[in-house]
Amino acid sequence: MITLGIDIGSTTSKCVLLKDGQEIIASGLRVGGLGTEGPEEALADLWKLTDLDPSAVTRTIVTGYGRNKYEGADGEVSELTCHALGGRFIFPDLRTLIDIGGQDAKIISLNESGRMSNFVMNDKCAAGTGRFLDVMANILRMDINDLEACAAQSEKPASISSTCTVFAESEVISQLANGVSRPDLVAGICESVASRVSALARRAGVVPRVCMSGGVARNGAVRSALSKSLEVDIDFDPMAQYFGAIGAALYGYRQALKQNS
Ligand code: ADP
Repeated sequence: MITLGIDIGSTTSKCVLLKDGQEIIASGLRVGGLGTEGPEEALADLWKLTDLDPSAVTRTIVTGYGRNKYEGADGEVSELTCHALGGRFIFPDLRTLIDIGGQDAKIISLNESGRMSNFVMNDKCAAGTGRFLDVMANILRMDINDLEACAAQSEKPASISSTCTVFAESEVISQLANGVSRPDLVAGICESVASRVSALARRAGVVPRVCMSGGVARNGAVRSALSKSLEVDIDFDPMAQYFGAIGAALYGYRQALKQNS
């Protein structure tokens, strides 16, 4: 049985085809979330990557920020449920999921059997989210995917003291003008995101095994700063940005099994 999970985020659309609730057979990701062509383009990539078409799919579940507006799925499920399911799919003994997306950051605590026991979220402030990195990358005229390599060259990470993204933006511009090196600035920016999110994680409580999900998880400088601050190992999987979509596909599989039994 093939199920499809679609995660329409605030900035990025992700989708995953899952076979028999076990094997990811294709994935698609396009920048552009709710209200853009992103979801359709990400889906088109799936059909290009496989010799399948939409008729092969038994059930489609949509999740994410834009899930309520999407027509064409068999059901919609909350991001928290999907991230927890997707996280456990990749790391079966996962207890704490740190998700940093384009517009929010969430800490999801799971009990031993994988049920969500607590969650804490920041969706009020751009600092500590992908938005902060997007704004800073834009000022530095850098690609978001190059921040990690740049931070790795830092000798003395710059201190970004402003807690507000708008003020931090001015601070970065003035530090740049004062000759602070790009690697030191980028490392400081990554540490600033990690410091915001680690405060959130402490509120939720951090129980190993811990992993990161969401687009920002792709940045190793944020991951290692977070790991250092929380004094815990943080696992990463290359599919980290797809956890919501994986969870949605898995949810669809379980739902279809129940209906057929
Ligand atoms: P959403 O579901 O809210 O759209 P995602 O979990 O898909 O969020 O993550 C999107 C965010 O991740 C964006 O802010 C994007 O800039 C950021 N991002 C993507 N790739 C990277 C990367 N390599 N390093 C840091 N941030 C990244």
